[in-house]
Amino acid sequence: MARSVVVTGSTSGIGLAIATAFAAKGDNVTINGFGKEDEIKAIIERLESSSKVKAIYHPADMTKPAEIADLIETAAKTFGTVDVLVNNAGIQHVEKIEDFPIEKWDQIIAINLSSSFHTMRAAIPLMKAKMHGRIINIASAHALVASPFKSAYVAAKHGILGLTKTAALELAEFGVTVNAICPGYVLTPLVEKQIPDTARARGMTEEQVKTEVILKAQPTREFVKAEEIGALALYLASEEARQVTGTHISIDGGWTAA
Ligand code: NAD
Repeated sequence: MARSVVVTGSTSGIGLAIATAFAAKGDNVTINGFGKEDEIKAIIERLESSSKVKAIYHPADMTKPAEIADLIETAAKTFGTVDVLVNNAGIQHVEKIEDFPIEKWDQIIAINLSSSFHTMRAAIPLMKAKMHGRIINIASAHALVASPFKSAYVAAKHGILGLTKTAALELAEFGVTVNAICPGYVLTPLVEKQIPDTARARGMTEEQVKTEVILKAQPTREFVKAEEIGALALYLASEEARQVTGTHISIDGGWTAA
């Protein structure tokens, strides 16, 4: 039976790949994120064309708790419940702590950490009522290790692992698993945008940032593909993964093994 899957921040990059993976499996998806109207319409059409699924878009801003609650309510009204919640929306800002804009700190903590609390707060009663559910938080290698100039991002991503473990314990007897995926570098707009800032902060050229900072972190010297994260999310949402809870799975080309 088609599940109801909500993916935050799914108009681009990793979130879009995850929504695509679930739709291809035959699940109904609620997508979210920013983007031009015609681009979002095209995404919905693409998702619906891959199989007999229905896809809807909700424009909730992940800094706004009331809009986030409405996102979950809308998905539940449209598809009957929320079976799978993927907390993926995220942004980055690269700057020394002493120069880090206060509003950027607040925005990153809101989008990359607090939004997952708000989606979970709204979705957990639905999952508990069905004694079944899957919550997948897209964290990062930066949930496990730090890099300079990414204070808010690293703090938020470390925080999401704590939230993941706490929720897993609270839901362990309700058939609901809660896990985090910790990707290494994936060449999405989020990474492309930070290359010039990182170059400035480190006094390097953009090419040096790609080879000496980004891919240097990953022993495989290759970017992770967004589709590979989609496949991992499908596994965590499967029945076979029912005993996998309260943990993280790294998909980082060996980054955090070092
Ligand atoms: P991306 O920039 O391609 O996509 C981010 C998505 O979040 C977009 O759909 C955007 O519209 C949405 N978004 C941003 N602010 C929002 C807001 N206030 N409300 C609602 N939606 C909002 O980025 P990505 O690389 O696909 O990142 C997705 C997730 O993966 C993030 O949580 C990121 O931290 C994580 N991640 C990315 C990488 C990487 O290398 N790209 C590595 C590890 C973890």
